Amino acid sequence: MVSKYRDPAVDAAYDAALLENAKTGFCVFCHYETNSVIIKEFNNFAIVENKYPYMEWDASPVKHHYLLIPKAHLITFKQFSEEEKQEYFDIVGMFELSRYHVYARGVLVAERSIKHHHTHLFLTTKNC
Ligand SMILES: [Zn+2]
Repeated sequence: MVSKYRDPAVDAAYDAALLENAKTGFCVFCHYETNSVIIKEFNNFAIVENKYPYMEWDASPVKHHYLLIPKAHLITFKQFSEEEKQEYFDIVGMFELSRYHVYARGVLVAERSIKHHHTHLFLTTKNC
């Protein structure tokens, strides 16, 4: 699948990783410590670099593209505990005030590639 968000070479690597994970049932976000660059960890969440970053958002080049992921294998916001909800909004609020875009695909939309919840946090050059 070719996306309009990524460089074609990054998109190809992304598709290959998705195929491999689908074969094995491996959840990359449950194992973020072993396969991601960790930016920051919280009690219930981690922020990692997106290995397959978007190159553009809202017609502006993307400078940083992070993923905010719960440490537990949670799929939907409705599964978040009260503590997780509080921590999630504390983190997202911090990034929002740092001019980051905050984006999460709905749990039932076709474009959601990995079921483990993840929120995209990205900064575009327009907002640096
Ligand atoms: Zn998982």
